[in-house]
Amino acid sequence: MRLLVTGGAGFIGSAYVRTVLAGGYAGYEDASVTVLDKLTYAGNRANLPERHEQLDFVEGDVCDTDLLRQLLPGHDAVVHFAAESHVDRSIADPSAFVRTNVVGTQTLLEACLRTGVERVVHISTDEVYGSIASGAWTEEWPLAPNSPYAASKASSDLLVRAYARTHGLDVSVTRCSNNYGTHQHPEKLIPLFVTRLLRGETVPLYGDGSNVREWLHVSDHCAAVQLVLTRGRAGEVYNVGGGTEHTNRQVTDLLLRLCGASPGQVRYVTDRKGHDLRYALDDSKIRDELGYAPRVPFEEGLADVVDWYRANPDWWQAPSAVRKAAA
Ligand code: NAD
Repeated sequence: MRLLVTGGAGFIGSAYVRTVLAGGYAGYEDASVTVLDKLTYAGNRANLPERHEQLDFVEGDVCDTDLLRQLLPGHDAVVHFAAESHVDRSIADPSAFVRTNVVGTQTLLEACLRTGVERVVHISTDEVYGSIASGAWTEEWPLAPNSPYAASKASSDLLVRAYARTHGLDVSVTRCSNNYGTHQHPEKLIPLFVTRLLRGETVPLYGDGSNVREWLHVSDHCAAVQLVLTRGRAGEVYNVGGGTEHTNRQVTDLLLRLCGASPGQVRYVTDRKGHDLRYALDDSKIRDELGYAPRVPFEEGLADVVDWYRANPDWWQAPSAVRKAAA
């Protein structure tokens, strides 16, 4: 089995690749992995082993047709994590989001089709559904993205659908809730707050902190991706939830306790433009069809994450450029 993983130097993609290389997925113990990653500010070569006989690292862009046509032959499957992923950046400048998330996904799908890749999994997000006051989204829910990031992901999901319906490409989509775990860039809420609190600094909480997110441990998400890769149906979408809903204020309070910080370190700031109030997934499809169930209890997983950031200041204190050059 030869896998090509895009965005494999990022937060979730690297967790997936490390697990494959550690023999964590039954039947894939001998799989070889090509990681294709542009090493943007969010990618970190140090998230992956420097050398591993089953790993081939290629620094490159998913928008590069020639590179894809050269790399893809010989690969049995592609897992597509590469994306611009930070909502705030998409509000400030959406152009890179359209390029990588929309054009990059289309370029990859086309290259997979032309080189005969047999199986593709596209990693998407619950944010494509918009915001939901009560209840939970099923996969049938209309797409109603609110941020430029979510709109670019929704666009890529529609391209996936079109390649499955038009060309019969064997591709499935996962739509997961908010991930947390180690190796996440400190621009995102949990690592931002942990790293600031550990340095004794204040943390900026948007609005009144009442926005609700459903938290999913990255290892549970990756296990779901593997289930979809191996047993998911072509052309289908699978929601992947974590089952633990918390307001941002509740997450902040947990982090204050875990970091030994004081409530005075929380600073309320002007809300994000168009900030979605609540995300919630109905993931009974993947549970019933593929036997998925999240395993990591949120408070336990969160404590491990805080311990990891506490033990690895070199990882989060190095500027991206240095981390890239050091790779
Ligand atoms: P990340 O920002 O940590 O990593 C993205 C990776 O993609 C980086 O390594 C980056 O260098 C690479 N990349 C960016 N542009 C590229 C390009 N043009 N060509 C090749 N590589 C490129 O993101 P993440 O949090 O690991 O998210 C992975 C996927 O999961 C994304 O598709 C994201 O939309 C989705 N997702 C993430 C979350 C979450 O909570 N983090 C939730 C739902 C969905």
